Amino acid sequence: MSGRAKAPLLRNLTMLSYEQARSKVVEEVGKRKGPRATTVVSVWEALGLVLAQEVTTDREYPPFNRSTRDGYAVRSSDAGPDARLKCVGEIKAGDTVREALASGTCLQIMTGAAVPANADAVAMIEYTSREGDFVRFERNAQAGQNIVARGSEAAAGQTILTRGMRLGFAELALAAQVGAVQLQCAQRPRVAILSTGDEVVLIDETPGPFQIRNSNSVSLAAQVRIAGGEPVVLGNAADRIEDLGEKIERGLREDALVLSGGVSMGKYDLVESVLKAMGAEFFFDAVAIRPGRPAVFGLCQGKPVFGLPGNPVSTMVTFELFVAPAIDLLSGAEVRALPLVEARLAEAMKEKTGLTHFLPARVEWQATVPEVKPLRWQGSGDIAALAKANCFLLVPADREQIEIGESVSVLLRKDVV
Ligand code: AMP
Ligand code: MG
Repeated sequence: MSGRAKAPLLRNLTMLSYEQARSKVVEEVGKRKGPRATTVVSVWEALGLVLAQEVTTDREYPPFNRSTRDGYAVRSSDAGPDARLKCVGEIKAGDTVREALASGTCLQIMTGAAVPANADAVAMIEYTSREGDFVRFERNAQAGQNIVARGSEAAAGQTILTRGMRLGFAELALAAQVGAVQLQCAQRPRVAILSTGDEVVLIDETPGPFQIRNSNSVSLAAQVRIAGGEPVVLGNAADRIEDLGEKIERGLREDALVLSGGVSMGKYDLVESVLKAMGAEFFFDAVAIRPGRPAVFGLCQGKPVFGLPGNPVSTMVTFELFVAPAIDLLSGAEVRALPLVEARLAEAMKEKTGLTHFLPARVEWQATVPEVKPLRWQGSGDIAALAKANCFLLVPADREQIEIGESVSVLLRKDVV
């Protein structure tokens, strides 16, 4: 391999639709899923991690017959309309309840308190009136009303969280509820991020008049984090075979490598040929989308490698479509579906056919049906347009004209919606 740039002539793979390309990633990375290295993490720190153990209940849930309302614990047969029962005490949440409810009486009870034996209903305070020691009931009490029976949410020793589950706020609360405060989790996959381009400088450097700052490494690191990975930012490689080769070699030490730039048809777009020389096998190197058409996916030395086009919006779109599912799999989790929703197009639009477009747009939920408007933009370098967008509007490859009011798909930006 010579040190001088040489145009790669590798484009002999069939161009895939974005769905086919995504399936290919899922298929190939899925084959390598295997058990992940694990680590013990406190529930306070485990948000977004994938569970690598089962969590079982330490006791029944609820552990006692729990009142779900403030009111009066009664025997339902005692509390018909206009019934008048003597109130013989009160039960606060947390009180130890030993005595059974005697017939013809009631006990004032609070939400979260244990219902005494023999009581089978809680009458809401709103439908009662107090007359000294007595309580008058306006409504019929139904057996079981406003009580969650002991053990009805979960039995003791029951598995409530399983391996491969992603820990969101509800899952973490459930773990905390049963006292599982330390959780065995899959380690976040480490994703190397390498940008390429002779024009690219560090973000804290002052670019020359014809240079640009490395914004892609910043967006990619954020996207890796959101997807559940640990970004390993490797900086920028010049458009030279040796420099690219060295930095790619470094990147291949991580669980996956994401490159930006250098995958188009330009004379100095060398990523694919350098990877090829390092033994990479490619599964696609063109996808029928705009932006993002030259996206490349392959395996190099057993590691998934993504060559994303360098135009910032192309990099962002292709990450969401192709890299995010790989991170799910490398985390030991199922692949999450793309956040696609249907919306009503707020203005007519025209696009070239042949490629599926992902256009920066804003979806609003003011009307009964979500409404989406494409944003004006200067093409795939226009980060400012994307910063105003909360979704990408999909224009199918075969549609030239879409009318106002038509139903279209939008891919939500998960970080802002
Ligand atoms: P490329 O895919 O290498 O042909 O680059 C396409 C466009 O994206 C060019 O205008 C580049 O200057 C720009 N670009 C490439 N890498 C980056 C980066 N790391 N940050 C921001 N823009 C980039
Ligand atoms: Mg470049």
